[in-house]
Amino acid sequence: MPVLPPAIQKGTFSLVWSLILLAAGCPSFQVRAQQASVQGSLERYEFHQIQMGTEFRLLFYSPSSELAQKARRAAFSRLEELEQILSDYRADSELTRILPRASNEPVVVSPDLFAVLAAAEEISLKTGGALDITVKPFVELWKIARLERRLPSPQELEAARKRVGYEKVLLNRRLQAVQFRVPGVKLDLGAIAKGYAADQMLEELKALGIRRALIDGGGDLRLGLAPPGQKGWKVRIKGEEKEYLLANCSVATSSGDLQYTEIDGRRYSHIIDPVTGIGLQHRSIVTVIAPTGILADGLATALSVLPIDRAMRLVDGFPEVAARILRQSEEGQQNFRSQHFPP
Ligand code: AMP
Ligand code: MG
Repeated sequence: MPVLPPAIQKGTFSLVWSLILLAAGCPSFQVRAQQASVQGSLERYEFHQIQMGTEFRLLFYSPSSELAQKARRAAFSRLEELEQILSDYRADSELTRILPRASNEPVVVSPDLFAVLAAAEEISLKTGGALDITVKPFVELWKIARLERRLPSPQELEAARKRVGYEKVLLNRRLQAVQFRVPGVKLDLGAIAKGYAADQMLEELKALGIRRALIDGGGDLRLGLAPPGQKGWKVRIKGEEKEYLLANCSVATSSGDLQYTEIDGRRYSHIIDPVTGIGLQHRSIVTVIAPTGILADGLATALSVLPIDRAMRLVDGFPEVAARILRQSEEGQQNFRSQHFPP
């Protein structure tokens, strides 16, 4: 994956930037953001780097350029470290390396990998398996389908299904170890890894005293405190006219509508229903606001899979989580908002 040289720019919030950003607003997050007072003179810094197959942008306020450079290095090296652990593309990532062994015995994994597996398990349990990091055998079938322009056969789907199911991943919290119940399980953290990485990058910045920060991982946002003198970061959400002011939260969007394979005039999304193994055929854009990046990212994918009423009931059961779902149907576009989604 090519890595762009980090670019640094000072200046005002650009129009392009505010158009790229996704978002929505949640009042309770904003209140906390206002508690920090503006001190000293802070300058705005912006950096970017391609990692995890997407462009990560780092935007923050720092009292000096020395500290800004230190913060850039810390945040991006953490991101590189996480890609090396979590990537399912890299043959030498920790994730790829544990796969064959974990079919036979419990494998002790790094704290980061364990944290992501544990969060995935929790979201899977709470969403009835709509998020399922074991979908990789299905993902591989759909990659072939895309290339060969043919649907996976029932036999192929059946064979893959034997290796899919979040309950096939056993986590031992005491040992921080993972083991699979059946051979041949493969993991794909594509639905949550970026959210976790953004959370961790924000932690790196915080450790250096930089709290007025925004991390954008390919459109998914992790927001720290608001820019100096402002109530929140100005952000936009796909399909909404309004600009929201947000801080101290995460905003993630899953778009089953943008990445898809078309076969025999039908669209199949890159998001897969783990029950059927079929790429989603309904067209939806799901945006989730949550306290952490991993939860927003994971839920945005999971809610894409679920029927609207179930998705909405589920969101309202999570504290400080809100969601907006745009769904294209024969009657046109429908816009659903969870109870706490900001007006
Ligand atoms: P996202 O863009 O965050 O919604 O993640 C989509 C990616 O997650 C896909 O490209 C797949 O690699 C993977 N994926 C697809 N369907 C699921 C699913 N139901 N649960 C977990 N991961 C999935
Ligand atoms: Mg996701």
